[in-house]
Amino acid sequence: MVNVGILGATGMVGQRFIELLGDHPDFQITALTASKRSAGKKYEDAVTWYLDSKIPEEARDITVVDTDPGEVKDVDIVFSALPAGIALGVEPKFAEAGMIVASNAAAMRMEPDVPLVIPEVNPEHLELVELQKKNRGWDGFIVTNPNCSTIALTMTLKPLYDEFDIERVYVSTMQAVSGAGYDGVPSMAIVDNLVPFIGEEEEKMETETLELLGDLDEGSITPAKFGVSTSCHRVAVLDGHTEAVFIEMADDFTVEDVDQSFREFQGLPQKLDLYSAPATPIIVREEDNRPQPRMDRNAEHGMAVTVGRIRKDEAFGNSLKYVLVGHNTIRGAAGASILNAELIKEIM
Ligand code: NAP
Repeated sequence: MVNVGILGATGMVGQRFIELLGDHPDFQITALTASKRSAGKKYEDAVTWYLDSKIPEEARDITVVDTDPGEVKDVDIVFSALPAGIALGVEPKFAEAGMIVASNAAAMRMEPDVPLVIPEVNPEHLELVELQKKNRGWDGFIVTNPNCSTIALTMTLKPLYDEFDIERVYVSTMQAVSGAGYDGVPSMAIVDNLVPFIGEEEEKMETETLELLGDLDEGSITPAKFGVSTSCHRVAVLDGHTEAVFIEMADDFTVEDVDQSFREFQGLPQKLDLYSAPATPIIVREEDNRPQPRMDRNAEHGMAVTVGRIRKDEAFGNSLKYVLVGHNTIRGAAGASILNAELIKEIM
């Protein structure tokens, strides 16, 4: 078993890590950290548990410690669910102390020597780790996953990018409140309402998507070269981000070809049969009223992205439209980091 810790273990994403790692065959939770507010308390006393499941036995009695590598003993991998501002100062210290940091936070994502990885999309970008260790003189290293809405989008773009010539992508998101963290959106702001702005979300989607689909050559990534434009909105859904995607292709295509690309898509995690890998990463629904967050977010234990309403839009030439749903705190956060760690354990 590999001993693992969770940084920011009491938050929305931290709780998902604990739930998903509770019965993991290879990773064992031995350390939990949070802010000074929670440090010193038993986990079950420190957390306001919001998930339907029970707190896993192995985490209940662990004493939460301050988020400091000196407080985290005998741990090989830490999963970071820290706010970005805190992660920026802290994650490098854990890597310097020799640990592998699998992070959800945005802080280090766009550093040129820090891999930003979705295992089904760009596992080869993990090669940047060697450069990172050399550049920074660390024994450990940091690997990041993209933000929640980018992961779901890019998983569906990958098979299309490989088979068709994408010119422009327009995305309109309808994002769940859990994406903002436990204290993120006051109920007075979101019940009976929609908020048409999520700070820095559009910028993240537009840059991270192109980075993920970019080519790694001699230690640097050349981002993919198509346009991405997004509009991000918070809606009164607890979990599960929905995205309406519009794509302009350079050439003609058929809906049947797109449908087949989605259905046949497999990546390295499926080939390696990694524990958290969904057998079918993209699930295609044919009903006119799917996907829906409440009905589709838990597909393949929350690790698959569900698409539907695949259609051609003749109004703007060779344009494709579809709707997707992905679970934001599982595939879009904790599950994504865990899959990254499983891949690292398997191939590095
Ligand atoms: P959250 O619910 O606000 O949780 C934040 C966690 O960080 C808590 O455990 C908190 O501990 C801890 N923390 C806060 N200030 C700290 C400090 N000064 N020192 C050490 N620990 C501190 O946030 P979240 O939604 O889980 O998000 C966590 C990270 O994941 C963020 O970077 C977010 O952008 C990213 N992310 C979130 C999602 C999502 O869907 N929610 C998806 C992708 C990525 P206390 O309980 O002690 O305050």
